[in-house]
Amino acid sequence: MNKTPSAFTANVELPLVLENDDSVKWHDEADVIIVGFGGAGVAAALQAREAGASVLAVDRFSGGGATAMSGGVVYAGGTRYQHEAGFLDTAEEMFKYLVSEGTPVNDKTLRDFCDTSSESIEWLTKYGVKFGSTVYSERIAYPPDGYFLYYTGMEKFRNTAKPAPRGHRTVGKGPTGRFYFPPLKEAALGNGVRLMTHSPVRRLVVDAQGCVVGVDIQAIPPEKQAEHAAICSKVNPYKMLNGGPAEEAIAECREFEAALPPRRLFLRAHRGVILAAGSYNYNLQLFGRYRPIVLKAFRELVRGGTMGCDGSGIELGTTVGGGLSHMDRLFITKPLSPPNSFVNGILVNAEGRRFITEDAYLGNVGCAVSEQSREGFAWVVLDRTTFWKGVRELAWPLKNMFSWYGLPAVLNILLGGTKRGKSIRELATKLEIDPDVLEATVRDYNANAGRGTDALGKLKMHLAPMSKPPFYALNMSLRNKWGFSGTMPYGGLTADETTGNVTRADGSIIEGLYAAGRTAVGICSESNFSGLSIADTVYSGRRAARAAAAHSRGVIGDSTRTPSKAIVS
Ligand SMILES: Cc1cc2nc3c(=O)[nH]c(=O)nc-3n(C[C@H](O)[C@H](O)[C@H](O)COP(=O)(O)OP(=O)(O)OC[C@H]3O[C@@H](n4cnc5c(N)ncnc54)[C@H](O)[C@@H]3O)c2cc1C
Repeated sequence: MNKTPSAFTANVELPLVLENDDSVKWHDEADVIIVGFGGAGVAAALQAREAGASVLAVDRFSGGGATAMSGGVVYAGGTRYQHEAGFLDTAEEMFKYLVSEGTPVNDKTLRDFCDTSSESIEWLTKYGVKFGSTVYSERIAYPPDGYFLYYTGMEKFRNTAKPAPRGHRTVGKGPTGRFYFPPLKEAALGNGVRLMTHSPVRRLVVDAQGCVVGVDIQAIPPEKQAEHAAICSKVNPYKMLNGGPAEEAIAECREFEAALPPRRLFLRAHRGVILAAGSYNYNLQLFGRYRPIVLKAFRELVRGGTMGCDGSGIELGTTVGGGLSHMDRLFITKPLSPPNSFVNGILVNAEGRRFITEDAYLGNVGCAVSEQSREGFAWVVLDRTTFWKGVRELAWPLKNMFSWYGLPAVLNILLGGTKRGKSIRELATKLEIDPDVLEATVRDYNANAGRGTDALGKLKMHLAPMSKPPFYALNMSLRNKWGFSGTMPYGGLTADETTGNVTRADGSIIEGLYAAGRTAVGICSESNFSGLSIADTVYSGRRAARAAAAHSRGVIGDSTRTPSKAIVS
């Protein structure tokens, strides 16, 4: 017999609709149930406890999610750490800057996010996260050890707002998400949050009126949990060239979970269920639907996150009619710098033309590269002066070369297929680009650079005519596995901007269901840079928790609601 293929790509099922609340045997209950115990989940849990609600959090694996793997940077303005560093930043300047970058949320929400960002940092500090005030002023994706405040976006290169370093990096060595999450988890457990690990939520439970009243989980037996965790750990953004092996591990985990005794448990939520289950970064089927280029290039890309980023939270929301938006929005990093000198070069596509200013934010460069022909073909062309200046920056001090931000650049130069030509024409031929077009591109660029202007708006400080042969081309193509492009999708469920309730395509609220973090469309879903996503998990997690803790069944809507600006796709 033919089976109807599931409409869902993750391991989720249609909701269970109850005739009455006692139609199922509830295994456990709480006021608020949180699906996913990563960044948004832990923030929601702490906030719900502050509001006096009992909380049960469940996680497919051990918790922590992408947040614990992350750089631990939180974006905020007007904080005491900035003040200590001598920056009198304000929420207003932060707002002006974020507006200029673009966001799917309406101005009221963005303003609230900015106004409360300093308080959010204090709130995190209260629960044990440590921040610092040593500033790193250079342009960089992530600061070296010892620096805890930096410019994560393009603040210094825009004239829309007074610049200030707003990236608050958690204190610690290396990527410090591993120092950000544990104190929050400890605080949550210490404050009475109960956590069930190795408990993937498979479906939502709704009452006859459509209000979400609980979840149905698969309970992984205790004796199998270590094996479950071991399979999960095979997906790790810090493992080099792991795109292919990650997919094998995902399939292994699906089979492992399917082969277990079918033990399902119903958990009852008296006030609300918060979906905080992360993004869909490890769901290739969803990429096939929304961003096919990632499906083609997954072996070469570094997908940020854990195996838990499987899109199941997003799809659980759609099982009860949740709308989706920004599902094709992608954050792809393509760092031209470090070394800083490489920003002086020109980035060209297969047609031999420039397509974005080279000093744009690395996430915008990556996105633009992914949209170029020949599956994201892009090379940065440098002359002798800029190439060797960059190499020297990477090589000295020696620790730069072996740092986790310097090493990828070195590997790309050595292994990415770097080309050299005595002339631009010769270089173009080696790149299989029309030599006439590339020559014209360089000629125009040089002429403008000589006058201190640029057709794409590159800053004067980064303009340098390219005149000294030989010329070099470094491979910035999406499919270059030595390019180490980090990728994360930023779309998700549409959510009411006042309450965090999941909304339907028509904007109406789904009672009892909330979404936060990367399961929902958030502040960072249009234009993301370091720190904004975690800041959004705190903001949206706390927002959902406040609303869920205050919710009484049968009461939907809120007179203070602000309609969401997000466009439903
Ligand atoms: C290497 C790296 C560096 C980064 N650096 C930064 C940074 O410095 N600053 C920044 O702002 N952003 C950064 N990001 C992005 C940021 O970490 C994430 O976007 C953000 O932390 C996501 O938080 P979340 O709560 O939505 O999801 P997560 O933290 O991923 O949590 C989701 C949880 O849900 C669980 N889950 C999933 N499905 C289910 C289910 N069906 N049932 C139960 N549980 C489920 C998962 O196991 C997981 O624990 C980085 C990401 C990476 C990977």
